[in-house]
Amino acid sequence: MLWCASNPWLAEHVPNWGFARRAVKRFMPGEEFASALKAAEDSKPKQIGALFTQLGENVTDLSEAAEVVEHVESVFAQAAAAGVDPVVSVKPTHLGLDIDPAVTLANLHRLAEAAEKVKGYLWVDMEGSAYTDATLELYSALRHKHERVGLAIQAYLYRTAADIGRLLPLNPTIRLVKGAYAEPPDRAFPAKRDVDANYLALSTFMLPELKRGKLRLVLGTHDVAMIRRITGFAEALGIERSQVEVNMLYGIRTDQLAKLAAEGHTTRQLIAYGPAWYGWYLRRLAERPANVLFVARQMFG
Ligand SMILES: Cc1cc2nc3c(=O)[nH]c(=O)nc-3n(C[C@H](O)[C@H](O)[C@H](O)COP(=O)(O)OP(=O)(O)OC[C@H]3O[C@@H](n4cnc5c(N)ncnc54)[C@H](O)[C@@H]3O)c2cc1C
Repeated sequence: MLWCASNPWLAEHVPNWGFARRAVKRFMPGEEFASALKAAEDSKPKQIGALFTQLGENVTDLSEAAEVVEHVESVFAQAAAAGVDPVVSVKPTHLGLDIDPAVTLANLHRLAEAAEKVKGYLWVDMEGSAYTDATLELYSALRHKHERVGLAIQAYLYRTAADIGRLLPLNPTIRLVKGAYAEPPDRAFPAKRDVDANYLALSTFMLPELKRGKLRLVLGTHDVAMIRRITGFAEALGIERSQVEVNMLYGIRTDQLAKLAAEGHTTRQLIAYGPAWYGWYLRRLAERPANVLFVARQMFG
């Protein structure tokens, strides 16, 4: 599935197949930002906030990256005007990282300014391990100038504990995820149980730092048993529930997210949109084999 996610022929053709378009609706409300905004408005009564992301990655021309910047600036403004959290996540390769890291950083600075203008937040996604060093450098440079910026880091990588140590002096905002890309065994834990163990260890390490005000922590996972263990530890340390934020993807375990919100946790769902959903969607299928059966049902009517 992860091989299919990076196959150019499939990426060009699959999005035109009707059953695939029907199936993807489970994870995204629509291709236009207006659908994402509507989904965010609908979730507000459940105290679930929004985190928008325009799908796309690995642009091959800086003019495409410039279009992304303009679009994301307009998303910050539109979300704020609609009374929805102006919080947006971007991928460095969508902003030109494969072509020019300096331009990518300039693009990120522009977006961080747009976020600050509306008291929103800019998140930087973490992509495959070929980009980890460059993305950490981008985030460090960004964080030196801006307050309202966060970075996703992946528990499946061996290096992540050391990376957190290097980020701490920046007073960072971290979204801890398990990791969604196909990685070789010399870089990432091959066994899921080890990824889970590392997720727990890393978050447990970060909680006292959160208590000391040295970082802001967001748990980006649908693993409710894991979330419960971590929030239990947080409570034992006397950390306010609202300080432990949980983010999930639109369409996955929303009932559980609403429950966490009702209990006082800050919650947010990542709402993806845009026509370039192919690679992202395949990674969602790879996370759970049952999702493939769902696609098959769409295929056979
Ligand atoms: C807000 C957010 C931001 C993210 N940002 C990044 C990023 O920047 N970089 C990156 O590499 N990864 C990112 N991810 C993806 C992440 O790395 C995992 O691949 C993904 O969250 C699945 O792992 P899990 O933590 O939910 O745990 P798992 O142990 O895989 O899943 C726990 C349970 O959640 C449910 N579940 C999980 N995934 C699915 C699914 N696709 N469909 C249906 N049910 C599911 C299942 O019931 C499963 O048993 C992000 C995830 C979230 C929620």
